Amino acid sequence: MSFDLVLFGGTGDLAWRKLMPALFQAFRHGTLPEGGRIIGVARDDLSHVQYRELIASRFKTVEGAKRPSEEEFKNFASMLHYLRLDLSKPGDYARLAEMLNSRNADTVVMYVATAPALFTQTVEQIAAAGLNGPNTRIVLEKPLGHDLASNRAINEAVGKVLHENQVFRIDHYLGKPSVQNLFAMRFGNALFEPIWRREHIANIQITIAEDLGVEKRGAFYDQTGALRDMVQNHALQLVCAIGMEPPINAHADAIRDEKLKVLRSLARWTPETLGLHAVRGQYTAGTAYGERVPGYRSEPGVDPGSNTETFVALRTEIENWRWAGVPIYIRTGKRLASRDARIEVNFRPTPHAIFRTQAGMANKLVINLQPKDGLELHLLAQAQDQRVSTKSGVRGGMLPLTSVQLDLDFDKRFGSERVGAYERLLLDVIDGRLNLFVRSDEQEEAWRWVEPIISHWEHDNNGPRPYAAGTWGPSASSAMIARDGFWWGEEA
Ligand code: NAP
Repeated sequence: MSFDLVLFGGTGDLAWRKLMPALFQAFRHGTLPEGGRIIGVARDDLSHVQYRELIASRFKTVEGAKRPSEEEFKNFASMLHYLRLDLSKPGDYARLAEMLNSRNADTVVMYVATAPALFTQTVEQIAAAGLNGPNTRIVLEKPLGHDLASNRAINEAVGKVLHENQVFRIDHYLGKPSVQNLFAMRFGNALFEPIWRREHIANIQITIAEDLGVEKRGAFYDQTGALRDMVQNHALQLVCAIGMEPPINAHADAIRDEKLKVLRSLARWTPETLGLHAVRGQYTAGTAYGERVPGYRSEPGVDPGSNTETFVALRTEIENWRWAGVPIYIRTGKRLASRDARIEVNFRPTPHAIFRTQAGMANKLVINLQPKDGLELHLLAQAQDQRVSTKSGVRGGMLPLTSVQLDLDFDKRFGSERVGAYERLLLDVIDGRLNLFVRSDEQEEAWRWVEPIISHWEHDNNGPRPYAAGTWGPSASSAMIARDGFWWGEEA
């Protein structure tokens, strides 16, 4: 199968930090179909050779194991081409058409990795140049819009010139091995399904914590904030993966129909819940990696009076028969105590405690997303330490319980065979598999759910609550969850 992959924004940060290394890994693993062309597009005046040199120099900054040897890069680079094109100039697209029509590849992937302001125009011009035939697939990066109306406008513009099954809206969290394994665990094993419900699960916690600040993206982030950057897309997709009903089959629309139902079932916001169940924060100066770091308002590109949130904690529920009454907590932020993304499913304790030390102890399933990928099942077992058996807390001569865990570490188990998120998703686009991509109605529903929070905060003069860099966010986040009698995982 021949393919042409056009990378609009081929010299940008996303292209060289994520996409090129992912394409190279696929090439190294032998999964990238042979005979493909990767065509970088940007405004710089570069020859193919200069583009290859640019990408080669960028690879020097990629982590060691993912860096190509000279020989490997030479072979990979034979796929790399470059086209100078200004996406805002309609006349320029004729050159793209000429390049693509020169060989009529079986599949043409257009990856739009440029500023969101160029999305609509680019898609319209692709169509005007006659490049929207049935073998074309378009990949759109986040953020797709700033709110529901702008998201809809993009979806409508795209929908006019391409069929929905040609549109691949990327959320790279869905490409993470542990998220795919969550689907595999839930729908490939009979073990969990009977207990995956309100009768057995006390609460679910989703944490996506970053220890970095806004780095060089201050200007972008200040217009975006944590709610739009992380919750509307990644966190809600994780809620869907945890909460969805088993799909009738593994086809993309069967899966996306079930995810959409979850989004439609999320508790609607009221003035009361907006006050109690939506916490925003902003980091102030503090410590990271043992060093003093500045507060958000002192970061380059950030308005010194900014009210943009760098932290969000939310409480919601999926209002259906399976989940009614089970709180779902979402927490994400920058400059938190560690880089840690995970989902914790906390099961209810046993209905009757025969071990005194058992009170309040319960099973927990942890899906680790980063920095490590894997699953941990926390079980209670008999402590083996004889010294504790003599203490007064032991009933009937039994040793007390202790928490032990079954640990499936995907790094150790699958090692170098593991396929990274962008690698997985790029291969899926080339093969036309839509399962791990977001449909327009899902995305719009997610915007519909976050919009009341955006508007509430816009009208709330209190602004975000400060938290010191290097901590777990404002104390209101712990207070929110404590009102239900729970606590965040790392505070246990
Ligand atoms: P970036 O570093 O600013 O790169 C933008 C790219 O677009 C450059 O190659 C630029 O090259 C090209 N470009 C800009 N205007 C153009 C025009 N008129 N015609 C042709 N090419 C043009 O941006 P980025 O960080 O890679 O982000 C790209 C997209 O991915 C954005 O939508 C961003 O939100 C999204 N995203 C980025 C990341 C990330 O980690 N970077 C993560 C998730 C999503 P020239 O200026 O030379 O033309």
